[in-house]
Amino acid sequence: MAGGGDLRVAGTLHLLLLLAAGLSRGAASWTEEKNHHQPAILNSSSLRQVVEGTHISEMWQNDLQPLLIERYPGSPGSYAARQHIMQRIQRLQADWVLEVDTFLSRTPYGYRTFSNIISTLNPTAKRHLVLACHYDSKYFPQWDNRMFVGATDSAVPCAMMLELARALDKQLLSLKNISDSRPSLSLQLIFFDGEEAFLHWSPQDSLYGSRHLAQKMASTPHPPGARGTNQLHSMDLLVLLDLLGAPNPTFPNFFPNTDRWFNRLQAIEHKLHELGFLKDHSLERTYFQNFGSGGIIQDDHIPFLRKGVPVLHLIPSPFPEVWHTMDDNEENLDEATIDNLNKIIQVFVLEYLHL
Ligand SMILES: [Zn+2]
Repeated sequence: MAGGGDLRVAGTLHLLLLLAAGLSRGAASWTEEKNHHQPAILNSSSLRQVVEGTHISEMWQNDLQPLLIERYPGSPGSYAARQHIMQRIQRLQADWVLEVDTFLSRTPYGYRTFSNIISTLNPTAKRHLVLACHYDSKYFPQWDNRMFVGATDSAVPCAMMLELARALDKQLLSLKNISDSRPSLSLQLIFFDGEEAFLHWSPQDSLYGSRHLAQKMASTPHPPGARGTNQLHSMDLLVLLDLLGAPNPTFPNFFPNTDRWFNRLQAIEHKLHELGFLKDHSLERTYFQNFGSGGIIQDDHIPFLRKGVPVLHLIPSPFPEVWHTMDDNEENLDEATIDNLNKIIQVFVLEYLHL
């Protein structure tokens, strides 16, 4: 009798242990979802809607031109650029939650203040697709009354992200209503400060903002209050935009683990071309070609890559001819290329988020 009772207790315990194991597996499994996430591919009429909804001239005037100023960390222009980015996002309908991550760091010129801007839709959603760029311009002394405004580096990528948020505002607003209260997948925009070296690029003098934010996110539990998972786990894919806006860019495919997303960009470019939706664009000279990079380029993705975040690095190789010269200005930008990239990236985001 006693033996039978013990057996039953043991059986119940066993069942409870099985249940507990199943639950903890369930709790951790959301961090694996990104590995088999599939895009919802848009049909031709949805593609047409995206193309008709984005406006390069609006982006140029409202988002880009106010950023074409000197804006190295701690400068008056940096403050103005930050205000501009936040104001452009705040006026949208979608519920963006803005956070400014301000910190001090030692530079070759002593301690300086830096401020990253993080803009998140549905911050409690477990997973986020992340688009990022840097908004600081490299510090160069003014020369011959000219100043460095870093148009491709990286005012254009910032403006493209702002235009994406504007053009897709209605769809992004609808994310809120999916699955009642809380979608499991949403969107985050990061504008890094202090990407550039003040003097000579080195591990200490570069990537100030991204190094700080990667560290901070690694030590911030996510979802809030979670044990064992942090904000880095919430990053499904970090899409880093840099040096965009010069004519005829070609983007290498840097990372095998994000191959299939690079292939989506390629496929979207081809489809938009086929439908006649891209300007001054030829299939002999596509942007997304499957060539290897021959090495990693140092940029804001590095601190995240080192911590295991999947990365798509959208930086052309070779770099724009005007790179780190006073000629990296508005005059040398190629409007058609920027417009085409806007369309490709907006489609990519909609497909990723199933909108
Ligand atoms: Zn630069």
